[in-house]
Amino acid sequence: MDGVMADFGHTFYSRVFERHPHVTNEDIDRSQFYFQRAVTGVDTADLEKIITEPDFYYDHPPIEGALEAFEYMVASNKYDPYIVTSPGPFHNAPSEKFRWITEHLGIEATRRLIIARDKSVVDGFVLIDDRSSPTNEDRANWIHVLYTQPHNEHVPDKPRLTWDNWEEVLNTL
Ligand SMILES: [Mg+2]
Repeated sequence: MDGVMADFGHTFYSRVFERHPHVTNEDIDRSQFYFQRAVTGVDTADLEKIITEPDFYYDHPPIEGALEAFEYMVASNKYDPYIVTSPGPFHNAPSEKFRWITEHLGIEATRRLIIARDKSVVDGFVLIDDRSSPTNEDRANWIHVLYTQPHNEHVPDKPRLTWDNWEEVLNTL
């Protein structure tokens, strides 16, 4: 969900700049997956505070094209998409993710929500994920397709897509 449908990076970096005005673009390393490593000059505890603020997960803007792609898949006879997402770092995160889906895709779409830290336990043809190596991917039934983000551009040997070309890429698998 984060980094594929919901723009975690947008919310995170805009709040870093807001809360810590001394931070400039020079202090941000967007090639880092772990947010704790992406910002120089702010304590890890203060970065963690940002992602545990109420509504942090609810406030993520949708990634362009994600909602349309999901709705297209649901309406098709070819795809059967589920949104598989980690419970996140604090107790509000799952309910905020549920609210996010309700807000942007409607309550029906929450029936397609699966909360799992280890996505290998979920069956499927592909997992579209921005993380370079999803947990236990060697045990999973799905093929991992990277959702391209600045933090995974260095990964050379996996199929990758964005919402601009997803169907083309899936058709090649
Ligand atoms: Mg993600």
